[in-house]
Amino acid sequence: MTESSYPDVQLFIAGQWRDGSSGETLPVHDPATGLEVGRVAVARQADLDAALAAAAQGFETWKRVPAADRAKLMREAARLFRERADRTARLLTQEQGKPLAEAKAEVLFGAEIIEWFAEEGKRVAGRIVAPRSEGTLQQVFKEPVGPVAAFTPWNFPINQVVRKLCGALTTGCSIVIKAPEETPASPAELVRAFVDAGVPAGVIGLVYGDPAAISSYLIPHPVIRKVTFTGSTPVGKQLAALAGAHMKRVTMELGGHAPVIVAEDADVARAAKVAAAAKFRNAGQVCISPTRFIVANSVREAFVAGLVEASRGLSLGHGLETGTTLGPLANPRRVAAMERLTADAVQRGATVATGGERIGSAGNFFAPTVLVNVPGDSLVLNEEPFGPLAAVRGFDTLDEALAEANRLPWGLAAYAFTTSLKTAHALTHGVQAGMLWINQPAPAWPEMPFGGIKDSGYGSEGGPEALEAYLNTKSVSTFCG
Ligand code: NAD
Repeated sequence: MTESSYPDVQLFIAGQWRDGSSGETLPVHDPATGLEVGRVAVARQADLDAALAAAAQGFETWKRVPAADRAKLMREAARLFRERADRTARLLTQEQGKPLAEAKAEVLFGAEIIEWFAEEGKRVAGRIVAPRSEGTLQQVFKEPVGPVAAFTPWNFPINQVVRKLCGALTTGCSIVIKAPEETPASPAELVRAFVDAGVPAGVIGLVYGDPAAISSYLIPHPVIRKVTFTGSTPVGKQLAALAGAHMKRVTMELGGHAPVIVAEDADVARAAKVAAAAKFRNAGQVCISPTRFIVANSVREAFVAGLVEASRGLSLGHGLETGTTLGPLANPRRVAAMERLTADAVQRGATVATGGERIGSAGNFFAPTVLVNVPGDSLVLNEEPFGPLAAVRGFDTLDEALAEANRLPWGLAAYAFTTSLKTAHALTHGVQAGMLWINQPAPAWPEMPFGGIKDSGYGSEGGPEALEAYLNTKSVSTFCG
């Protein structure tokens, strides 16, 4: 595939792929070259009104489809999506920058997520509750909440959509997705798989445009009954407040600043290898990316050496080139942020163990970077880096490590490395995070809950909890005579 084979991406409204009513489009850039590769249609109010009307109609249709039949369509969508994985992965790399192997893994994992949700939807069940008097029936039903508005970011253009889309579809909801303008083609291919599988018109809507204009129109709209957003904490707070003002159900999957505690009894070589792989995946633009490396002083030197070696082993390049293991950052904003955070840490006394600068003048390349002896007041230890920066600090006691891990307002992901059951137990109960991985990387399997606490948001996008988010509970008590 050449750059020119990237498509112009359309909206999907009421069962039709179409341009925006105003004819406006936005450019899509290849982050490795900075060149425009295609354009994406912009939705204005008339298009949103059409999408909302279709979603209301689609909900009436879809909620009546039995769960087993919904599952059949979803499984067919997964099959089609998997069959088209090579083409979709190339689009994803062109628009987002990640190496092709990572893009393909995201597509294939997306198919697996669809299949898991398809099956789990069949297990949604109410219950019968023991009555207080003879002749009374007490029943509890689970019903789909209604049309959903979903807002997703550019770092995992497929993965961020697929959990929301599947949570909605498997429970009988319709959905209007505002997908990322910077990476529009791969989520469009995800939607196409569902459309080609036979999901009825109106059940799925896909729009792009001005994120603030779209969210401020969709969230208060009476058709929308549930809001789900993945993105930064400041934007999440705004959208949650708007949803609250209109009493809409909300799931918020926001930022994080994941601590990695490396205890003195850890397998240090393995810890460095696993942590480096987690750190530099998708060039660190991952909400659960390890960011604050809190390392026992007795093993700090050895750990840093391992992290630096792993960083230097990465091969930076265009994601479509064979051998590339680290792509560019997705947009120029992130390169500017990496430069700012590195300069600030160095100015406060940190040392650059490797990397620390942008690479080349074309594209958004930034070297994998390890900063050591990073003072606690450095910006990089206090704002989410969302890039290939690892900041290392030492600790002497586990209490100190826990205090640092829990110091920030976020609570999304955390990692720990230890061979002591006692330490693992203390960390399991002491770390304030929605997700903790001990001695391993962070596979976000669909059967496990996925979500944060504190400023990282609320609600879950995995496990049975992910379906609860799209269900209302109804109690019905009947005196039968
Ligand atoms: P940003 O805060 O402007 O945007 C983040 C996402 O939210 C984008 O997809 C954007 O389109 C969307 N958005 C912004 N304003 C919105 C609004 N009013 N209504 C609806 N959607 C809106 O920042 P950015 O430069 O695109 O990304 C940088 C920061 O965002 C990162 O540092 C990171 O903290 C966060 N982020 C988090 C995730 C995640 O997976 N949780 C993903 C992407 C970005």
